[in-house]
Amino acid sequence: MRIYVSADMEGIAGITSRELQLVPEGREFAEARLLLTEEVNAAIRGAYDAGATYVLVNDSHGHMNNILPDRLDPRAELSQGYPKPLYMMEGISGEFDAVFFVGYHAAIGTADGILNHSYNSRGIYNVRVGGKLMSESMLNGRVAGHYGVPVALVTGDAATIRQTQADAPGVHGAVVKWSYNRGSARFISPERAREVIAKAAADAVRSASAGGAHGMLMAERIPVRWEIDWVYTVMADMACLVPGVKRVADRSIEFESPDYLVGFKQFQAVTMLSYLV
Ligand SMILES: [Zn+2]
Repeated sequence: MRIYVSADMEGIAGITSRELQLVPEGREFAEARLLLTEEVNAAIRGAYDAGATYVLVNDSHGHMNNILPDRLDPRAELSQGYPKPLYMMEGISGEFDAVFFVGYHAAIGTADGILNHSYNSRGIYNVRVGGKLMSESMLNGRVAGHYGVPVALVTGDAATIRQTQADAPGVHGAVVKWSYNRGSARFISPERAREVIAKAAADAVRSASAGGAHGMLMAERIPVRWEIDWVYTVMADMACLVPGVKRVADRSIEFESPDYLVGFKQFQAVTMLSYLV
């Protein structure tokens, strides 16, 4: 059983502040990296306890150099650095049996989701695929689905788990905090969070082994329509530099992709462009 872990930071117990904890210049960034690393370790431990044979961890937050390599469970391998073409899902392939999302957060616009955003927190106001409003777990889960790999586990705040399970029933969830709003949350202690995550990871691997994790499989490779509303109109201008992107309103664009993966790559391209303005 081969497990792919995509690890973000906003959904880690003990993390509530972007300025203090989530950017390298933040005063508490060093401590936040340790909190992240230990929750990832808990997921790895749970996976191996339940029979995993290989774990790849993809550091998926910001510039993707957050996990402390020499504190990581030595049984796992780690992907770090920037840029990665598939960003939060770089390295996924049909060789894996299940995907874990650790430290994830809710979609932009989720009132009770701590640090909610969807990829570019200063650029994307809404992203819809096939008319459906998407979160990062939903966007990334379909990349795994493209390769036939189910999402088995998501960890983070209650809103994130609710949103992910509404999209993909059967995904195991580990709730480590409850958000009052985008800026504040109540959480269990990091130590307790690691116990909850290790147990959920073990349960997730056991049910994936039994064929029980159907997650976000999107087996049909059919054309998909993508729509993005940007915060600023100039971001729509930039997105339209990419062939096939249409301006449909002052700050809204859309494009159609022949299958989900091609569209996800185009989504990464227009999002990269939005960072330039
Ligand atoms: Zn993040």
